[in-house]
Amino acid sequence: MKTLILGGTREARELAHIASGEPGFDIVSSLAGRVRDPMLPDGAVRVGGFGGVDGLREWLAANRIAVVVDATHPFAGTISANAAAAVADLRLPLVHLRRPSWSAQPGDRWFRVPDLAAAAKTAAELGDRVFLTIGRQGVGAFAGSTRAWFLIRAIDPPDGPLPPQHELLLARGPFTVEDEARLLADRRIDVVVTKDSGGDQTDAKLTAARAAGLPVVMIDRPALPAGGVVVETVAETWKWLCEQRETCG
Ligand code: NAP
Repeated sequence: MKTLILGGTREARELAHIASGEPGFDIVSSLAGRVRDPMLPDGAVRVGGFGGVDGLREWLAANRIAVVVDATHPFAGTISANAAAAVADLRLPLVHLRRPSWSAQPGDRWFRVPDLAAAAKTAAELGDRVFLTIGRQGVGAFAGSTRAWFLIRAIDPPDGPLPPQHELLLARGPFTVEDEARLLADRRIDVVVTKDSGGDQTDAKLTAARAAGLPVVMIDRPALPAGGVVVETVAETWKWLCEQRETCG
């Protein structure tokens, strides 16, 4: 069964690892090509955008794809929407693998906001030394914050304008709670800004912020498009894939 895995996440790599060793599955993983040195999944991989909905539809048809798995990051809203539109036209089954959102625990001081603009506004109200841990995309929304100082952490340098007062820290998770606590203390951080990415790869900063009593500006995820099946784990996705093939390995 020819299967496209839209990837760029640990879950996508785990799924590719399971499926690429399974008889009867012909898997190709797709990466956007944003990160300079990406962690590659097992099996066939293609890299780069498809060219919008039309390009993706044409690619799916040309490659005789039977099933699409959207295992992209919860904030990769455009490719999820494009996948939903393209499979609707071709009448292909689609599953969205979305890890659960983070949820606040006792002691957390979270300020949920709908988008980056609201995050910049809320962070400015909460502190002067901001730990901006939203990845390399979206940092430009904070470029107009001239009063605060920012510790910007990302895997690769952000494109576009940055806030005038900042330190850029290039690093790839996972990070330990101890490392995050040391970072918060060393840089005298008074507010943390993050996307609600979910998962356990980057949640140590939340534990460290809780322990330090720091506020966290939590940016909500974009909504998923209608139409596809939504699951939360790699195991559920694999079960769904097996059902499409009507046999399970
Ligand atoms: P996005 O805003 O939803 O997509 C923008 C464009 O990038 C899409 O229209 C598509 O270009 C291309 N694209 C995105 N994901 C792709 C994929 N897996 N394969 C081929 N093309 C893809 O996506 P994004 O937020 O820039 O994220 C890009 C990639 O990084 C995704 O694979 C995602 O899983 C990963 N990632 C994102 C974040 C995040 O915070 N956004 C964090 C970790 C990992 P065309 O229209 O030309 O097809």
